[in-house]
Amino acid sequence: MADWKALETELALWRESGQQATLWWRDDDAERPSDALEQLIEISDRFHVPLALATIPAGAEASLAERVKQASAVSVLQHGFSHLSHVPPSERKCELGNHRPLAEITDELGKGQAKLAELFGDAFLPVLVPPWNRLGEQVIDALPGLGFTGLSTLGPRSCKQKRLIEVNVHADLINWKAGRCFAGEERSLAQIITHLQQRRLGEVDSSEPTGVMTHHLVHDEGVWAFLPQLFDLTLKAGAHWCTAKEIFS
Ligand SMILES: [Zn+2]
Repeated sequence: MADWKALETELALWRESGQQATLWWRDDDAERPSDALEQLIEISDRFHVPLALATIPAGAEASLAERVKQASAVSVLQHGFSHLSHVPPSERKCELGNHRPLAEITDELGKGQAKLAELFGDAFLPVLVPPWNRLGEQVIDALPGLGFTGLSTLGPRSCKQKRLIEVNVHADLINWKAGRCFAGEERSLAQIITHLQQRRLGEVDSSEPTGVMTHHLVHDEGVWAFLPQLFDLTLKAGAHWCTAKEIFS
């Protein structure tokens, strides 16, 4: 059973093998400051855990840039363009798929990148986080030409991306199907422990930091309680929480 003790045990195995466990934190859907964003940044500051904020360009406001500039360890990634789905309602939601001309998608992504670079300056990294963690192959192929250096979706990375640094997330703390509530300690810890274990055993790319994905706008008490516990335990166990700059450059 996945519990806090099991996470401690896994991290102890990393230490015994002479390796430092690496993790990173990605939070999605930022557009403007809110009470939830304040709470998120407070936790990041309190534990000195870097926060990568996947920000929606179309809705990104200057007030968010002001807030990010005051935070000590927040960087900004690009979360699609407008976070609108362009597929028929019967299909899984997707903004960057094959349902509209590639030029329309690349035009939007370019505009979004320029806006975020201007708003956030050095805090922005040209790393694409596709909404719903999915995008078309031809969009991936176009990313380097648009100036993107990185890509982040969900699940252990493949070895295919030669011209992009791909670093994904591996744990989703939200249960979307059950009404956007905390996925629960057991499921969240199981996802984190599974990826750490697969890396340690060489079953997946061992150099990909284990990514924890959050969505501050829908956090309930369960998520807010889980994060400090996760940071506290992992830091005490010698794990390293990477900055986006560390993993995407
Ligand atoms: Zn999103």
